[in-house]
Amino acid sequence: DYVGDQIDQHLGRYSQADAVVVGAGFAGMYQLKRLREMGLKTRVIEAGDDVGGTWYWNRYPGARCDIESLGYSYGFDPELEQDWSWSERYATQPEILSYAEHVAKRYDLKKDITFETRVTRAVYDEDTSRWTIYTDTGEAISAKYFIMATGCLSVPKEPDIEGADSFKGPTYVTGRWPHEGVDFTGKKVAVIGTGSSAIQAIPHIAEQASQLTVYQRTPAYSLPAGNRPLTNQEVSDMKGRYRDFREEQKYNFAGIPKPERALEPAAMVPPEERQRRLEEGWTQGLTGLTTKFADALADEESNAIIADFIRERIKARVKDPEIAETLTPYSYPFGTKRPCLDTNFYETFNRDNVTLVDLRKTPMEKVTPKGIKTSAGEEAFDVIVFATGFDAMTGALLKVDIRGKGGTALRDKWANGPHTYLGIAIAGFPNLFTITGPSSPSVLSNMMVSIEQHVDWVSDCIGWMRGRGLETIEPTEAAEEEWAEHNEAMANQTLFPQANSWYIGANVPGKPRTFMAYVAGVDVYRIICDQIAASGYHGFETA
Ligand code: FAD
Repeated sequence: DYVGDQIDQHLGRYSQADAVVVGAGFAGMYQLKRLREMGLKTRVIEAGDDVGGTWYWNRYPGARCDIESLGYSYGFDPELEQDWSWSERYATQPEILSYAEHVAKRYDLKKDITFETRVTRAVYDEDTSRWTIYTDTGEAISAKYFIMATGCLSVPKEPDIEGADSFKGPTYVTGRWPHEGVDFTGKKVAVIGTGSSAIQAIPHIAEQASQLTVYQRTPAYSLPAGNRPLTNQEVSDMKGRYRDFREEQKYNFAGIPKPERALEPAAMVPPEERQRRLEEGWTQGLTGLTTKFADALADEESNAIIADFIRERIKARVKDPEIAETLTPYSYPFGTKRPCLDTNFYETFNRDNVTLVDLRKTPMEKVTPKGIKTSAGEEAFDVIVFATGFDAMTGALLKVDIRGKGGTALRDKWANGPHTYLGIAIAGFPNLFTITGPSSPSVLSNMMVSIEQHVDWVSDCIGWMRGRGLETIEPTEAAEEEWAEHNEAMANQTLFPQANSWYIGANVPGKPRTFMAYVAGVDVYRIICDQIAASGYHGFETA
């Protein structure tokens, strides 16, 4: 709005920068460091009051990383990785947050970050080839480069349950947990959802609450985390080989070098050897089982061998056969929704104070002032916890009203699903970059590896432009179309599209169904991106 802009300029809330980065999670922090080192005046705008992103917001009990801590960290500075020591196999949320804090301090990042400020709108001006980025504090920043480092899982899904805000007692959302924590002692608690966050939180809540009822729609495949303290020896061994390890991460399918992916499809592996691999994979974390057969995520029979094995294990962990059956997933192949790692999740249902409600049998009707009503009746609670997931991949990007060339709204352009080139750039939106954007490997990988790859690629691209005196870069429609087709073709070679997952937008009512992550692997993807850069940015137009 023209008048508003004039007023803002008049009031002096109009500033200039070379680059604006939205978000101060691991992506925004590293992006700031890189651009600052290149001499760009860079502003970071962050909604929270501190750094850390995901690990700032998700403070629910039991929140933890599912990637081993020695691998879930930045690799850009050999001194940083010598300087920091992880204490457990899987780091807790507080430990990761203090790592983010440590990084911010080490590189003095906070001086260029504006906290407690949300970017609401961004408009591209074709005459000046600049973006104007507007905030909810009334600031307008003019910048040449506009980088969305807003996270794939940073916008909790609005609970799509009737009456969700009619409940009289306190409600909590796992992705927006209060900083002071929540004491459930003596309380009758409901948890809605059984995805990753719920699976981590439920065992902790059950220990405090007088009574816990878990409302489950779709059961998850969860594997035992096998978390434990790291020994000094393990930490120093990794510090001795970190440089090699970082290379292995970069050229690995998921950014997780161990265990290595088998080369044979399941059909070529004899039964006893299959069983041996499954037993081994069971304790090897997130990729322990999917790496055991080359076709685990592409062939139904191969996948079923793994899924059957997990189902048996789930049943062995739960005493009541009926509850065990309810907790066992059948409706989608293993790995096509993000697998979970847990500590005592299934065993929690052996406790006397824990009840499971199967929403497939007795559907949720509504939240009431007193509690929760399903088709089986109403149950009263003191507290309700919503662990109902995220508006993933596109949620944070589309919350900002982004207007490209000709005033085109990104929301309109993506009405039928996100289209990008490489998940980094968008036709019609020059000099806008999306870190771990849709159609890049992002959530199918160790995200630290994917974040660093994108930040490096974007920074190198900006450096290349500046070296040639170029003002703008944007992908062609044709390149974007080709990338979309390639993405879809790759996804259709796998079992991923079979699941109603958040990867495909199925968890948010009305969201277009497109598979939003690049499935061919972090390694292949990196090579493609590097080749495109080396070719002088094939598929992009510059001016
Ligand atoms: P984020 O950390 O999400 O940061 C984005 C920031 O942008 C946020 O702080 C947000 O406040 C800010 N922001 C967004 N929109 C705006 C706006 N309009 N204005 C201002 N600020 C804005 N990944 C793994 O690889 N392994 C794991 O085990 C793992 N576990 C996870 C567990 C949970 C509970 C969640 C939610 C995610 C997990 N992830 C995991 C994914 C995780 O999001 C990434 O690993 C990583 O932290 C993402 O960093 P980011 O900087 O890209 O985004």
